[in-house]
Amino acid sequence: MKLNERGLLVVISGPSGVGKGTVRKALFNIDRHNLEYSVSMTTRSPRLGEQDGKDYYFVSKDEFENRIKEGKFLEYAEFVGNYYGTPLDKVEERLNVGKEVVLEIEVQGAMQVREKMPEAVFVFIAPPSRDALRERITGRATEPEKIINQRMDKADREFDVAHKYDYIVVNDTVENAADKIMAIIRAEHSKTKRT
Ligand code: 5GP
Repeated sequence: MKLNERGLLVVISGPSGVGKGTVRKALFNIDRHNLEYSVSMTTRSPRLGEQDGKDYYFVSKDEFENRIKEGKFLEYAEFVGNYYGTPLDKVEERLNVGKEVVLEIEVQGAMQVREKMPEAVFVFIAPPSRDALRERITGRATEPEKIINQRMDKADREFDVAHKYDYIVVNDTVENAADKIMAIIRAEHSKTKRT
């Protein structure tokens, strides 16, 4: 018997380049049936291979700002010169049909969700080391040095708030990290108390 029909909101953050996207995909391979990824909206340009409506909804700055005014985001933030936000209506709809909704967002946005939906579970994905992170960001080689440095600065600031999350999961291997997040989700469903 499922005691609580509403699904769990799972917020995943971590510095860019830590492999959040890969871990998230591995998570969905473990349980494709109950998990649902919340596709964010952004004003950043699509990277090679990214699809509108699947990776992000790519919109103009004007459109994004109109949606902010209309209160259509659960949270939003500016990250390295672009807006990113979580469309609220879809999240609510999926939680209400009992899906576990997974958000992959940066820390400012996660803290807004903490205020609005404290019942969510917050997971911070950390790299095995800072050097490992820089190597990964540089290795991606899709961005100029200036942007890489901005992303590293941002990562350093994100580490400072990692302790505000309920769980920290080190991405030593993708499978391990995904297994740990799955274990957290299952444990949350058995929990009797919330702090
Ligand atoms: P990227 O440009 O690498 O796809 O994403 C940059 C950062 O924005 C990542 O840390 C990613 O998790 C975060 N992000 C993606 N979607 C959202 C969102 O809807 N809201 C917030 N606050 N951050 C997001």
